[in-house]
Amino acid sequence: MRAAFALLLAPSACAPVPSSSSSDVCEGALPDGRAFAFEDGERFCDGTTLLECEGGDLLSNPLSPECSGGGDADADADADADADADADPVDATPVGPGTLSDQQVVAGESAWYRLDLARGTHAMFEVLFPHGSGDIDVKLYDRGLGTLHISESATDDERVSAWNPDADDTFYLEVFLWEGDPHPSARFDLRVVEVPLDASTPVCSAGAACAQIRQLPAPLTDDAGFSASSERAAFHFMRHDVLQALLYATRELRAAFPGTPPLGVLQVGDWLGRIPGVKEGAPWHPDYTHENGFDMDLAYYRTDGENGGGYVCEDEICEVTEAGGCYDDGAGGSVDYFCDSGGGHQADPEQMAAFLGLLMESRIIRVVGADRIIVPDILAAANVLVDEGRMTSGIRDDLHRKLECPRGYDQCFSMGWAFHVHHIHVSTTR
Ligand SMILES: [Zn+2]
Repeated sequence: MRAAFALLLAPSACAPVPSSSSSDVCEGALPDGRAFAFEDGERFCDGTTLLECEGGDLLSNPLSPECSGGGDADADADADADADADADPVDATPVGPGTLSDQQVVAGESAWYRLDLARGTHAMFEVLFPHGSGDIDVKLYDRGLGTLHISESATDDERVSAWNPDADDTFYLEVFLWEGDPHPSARFDLRVVEVPLDASTPVCSAGAACAQIRQLPAPLTDDAGFSASSERAAFHFMRHDVLQALLYATRELRAAFPGTPPLGVLQVGDWLGRIPGVKEGAPWHPDYTHENGFDMDLAYYRTDGENGGGYVCEDEICEVTEAGGCYDDGAGGSVDYFCDSGGGHQADPEQMAAFLGLLMESRIIRVVGADRIIVPDILAAANVLVDEGRMTSGIRDDLHRKLECPRGYDQCFSMGWAFHVHHIHVSTTR
């Protein structure tokens, strides 16, 4: 599923999305005044909510399967198996660090590239093109043509990366035109950037290629325990230790609760350690978060199994708080950013407690943000897990410290974080 739209500036998954409309364009502004606009008929998934422009009205559908953080993992796996069967990298063009300019891909015919990568190297493949000239997508494979990453955004450029710590190895890049694209062919530049994975690599700073940040692998089966939209692969770069903690926790959670649908990995950071949206000119998160691969936005595990993302409350409200009050939605109302304490929620406290406990085992979790009516239920569930011998009291105490809202954090009120009505935020130690 692809959204064919020209996104000028993106709304935020972590901040409210006030909107207004004119005759055939849906326009809105973030609280700080940055504007976004969709044309009529266009749609955009902000990672948790599907926004559609219909007749000039901006419609918001938080439960759309298009925003489930990856959709049907089985279908994705089937599609991937098909792609592997069609894969034909025999004539792959060898590449190395640098730029191959003015490459061409023809509809229905993939262009293939091969990179022989030395042990201890992280390589970034940047396929650079204007989206309006053709919706190019990419996949990265290992030497056995097993899929590593899929990047299928509906914007300019695609990026995938090869993380190669152990031995000299070979990777294959497939560049193709999305099957629904009308262009007979499209042109692109392919830039390959290599960064050594050695101890001398400086600490990441946003805006520089960094060996400490790597890309979330494509989730090929539900057993991985997580889902992630291939449209957002460029925003799924995180630190190596954060990725290891996430993969461990999602996999072990699924093992402990067999059949649990995968957890949606929403926005993390971009390939240069920047806040998602910076490249488009509108960061989707506040300053100093989601930088350098330390922070993740994840969906809630839910009692209804809709774990890919979406609103978890019966009702959301806006309250005048220390945050400065309600945001105007441009239509005479206000933007909701807390679950209504008078209503219920669909988060699964037991699975959330168990998952966060697994994350805590990594010892790198700094703070976790969740809605104020959900936090107490998670903490109560953690106490039950301790009583049942399924969680240590040390992990439970850690969970209490990291989930209870310490004074002094922005967005932190009454045991919960504002704007976390559809996702949790996890910060790790820096
Ligand atoms: Zn966040």
